Amino acid sequence: MSQARKVIVIGGGITGMTAAYYLKKRLDAGGFKADITLVEGAESLGGRINTLRKDGFVIEKGPDSFLARKLPIIELSKELGLEDELTGTNPEAKKTYILRDGKLHPMPPGLVLGIPTELGPFMRTALVSPAGKARALLDLILPKKEEPGDESLGHFLERRLGKEVLEQVVEPLLAGIYAGDTFALSLQSTFPQFGELEQEHRSLIYGMMNNRKQTQLEARNLPVPGRKSTFLTYKNGLSTLVQRLEEVLRDSGVNIRTGVKVREMGKQGGRYRVVLGNGQTEEADSVIVTLPTYHTAELLGELPGVEKLKAINYVSVANVVLAYRQEDANVSFDGSGFLIPRLEGRSITACTWTSAKWLHTAPEGHVLLRCYVGRSGAEDWVELSDEELVAKVRQDVAELMGIEAEPLFHEVTRLHRSMPQYPVGHLDNIRELRSELAEQMPGVYVTGAGFNGVGLPDCIRQGRDTAYEAADRLMA
Ligand code: FAD
Repeated sequence: MSQARKVIVIGGGITGMTAAYYLKKRLDAGGFKADITLVEGAESLGGRINTLRKDGFVIEKGPDSFLARKLPIIELSKELGLEDELTGTNPEAKKTYILRDGKLHPMPPGLVLGIPTELGPFMRTALVSPAGKARALLDLILPKKEEPGDESLGHFLERRLGKEVLEQVVEPLLAGIYAGDTFALSLQSTFPQFGELEQEHRSLIYGMMNNRKQTQLEARNLPVPGRKSTFLTYKNGLSTLVQRLEEVLRDSGVNIRTGVKVREMGKQGGRYRVVLGNGQTEEADSVIVTLPTYHTAELLGELPGVEKLKAINYVSVANVVLAYRQEDANVSFDGSGFLIPRLEGRSITACTWTSAKWLHTAPEGHVLLRCYVGRSGAEDWVELSDEELVAKVRQDVAELMGIEAEPLFHEVTRLHRSMPQYPVGHLDNIRELRSELAEQMPGVYVTGAGFNGVGLPDCIRQGRDTAYEAADRLMA
């Protein structure tokens, strides 16, 4: 016999949208009449995902792609009929460069997340000094850590591979994902596989070599573009996923409220009272909160675990997209772009040669570049005007690539407090908070990029798993 249940999902980013989608699916399958409301503070859904389609260009203002081997997003794409929309990177643009002493060096083949898995190319690269290489190879004989608990990512990598490889290769690569200071990031919450490989194989390099073979085998089961490309996106940009999800949610009767924030949340008998910014109050049996942790903390009140949630730092970043006529940017784009280590002291942290890496992003005869600004400890750009920011970025582009021409247009995107920095001990903190919630506010769930993974596939996995947990509790 079906029963009317009300669930409110707070936050209409990819985690919240996915949670609403899987919640509806699970409750429907269980024969429960589900009344689901998704509340989003901004005028449109998608959160950090934001594709701008302009003059034939496909411009990503937030995330631009996702790791092909992480399945939750592939599975969701299939369910939504978007499999044919998926596209991989240009196979001709495999090279990535890293700046060292003002010069761009190609990253040696076989680096996986900055860890060498092919020793020949690593030994030949000019990116790392002979002493730096010798220190990195010590990893092959160094003992493993006795106590396998959490530590900082920076500490782990320096311990295994040495300071030079960390600063020159791994940190700039990881900066793209976390914009973080590796010494402030938790190993277990960012790259738990590194710690596991050390425990299993003793050497990180050896473990990664082994892992690579496994990954290649697994790639055979991916949809066609994912077998050849490490990253995937949609031919019309990532907003394709948001638009399709929104359509499906609306068609299935999920009540979507945009342009209104949740201001407060509290217990009311066995249910929850959710107060909106416009003063309206809604009641629910279950609430799934998918906000950045600093907003989640405001809604949870006095639970002891909330203090640790408040302490999670979010780094602000910006990106500047520059569009050119081909003849104005007539340099060789034989790769996907370049990364800049902190030590180089540049304004930009990386530059993606977007139109070379993703062939669908620019019309014929045009070039699209995307430059990234800001990382942990280097957020002064926040104070700059758009004009100053663009001027600084163009100066780096001129000095490093020789492109001095005026772009056809530029797009500046500022993403304030957008990159969560999981501190050492984060997983334990989150576990404690969730067990406090289960005891004191059963039916309230917290999830999203600030909790168990920042990548889009991880957000989708979290949204789905939380939805299943909430649905199963309601139906029990
Ligand atoms: P969000 O997208 O932050 O959604 C939370 C939503 O809650 C927002 O829409 C917000 O408006 C809303 N909200 C806030 N407060 C309230 C309130 N009180 N009431 C109601 N609504 C509220 N990942 C990848 O996999 N690949 C990439 O290439 C990639 N690049 C990135 C580049 C940048 C610049 C950034 C910032 C992130 C990138 N990521 C990437 C990470 C990924 O985009 C995010 O982790 C993910 O989009 C977060 O989704 P979310 O739903 O958890 O949170």
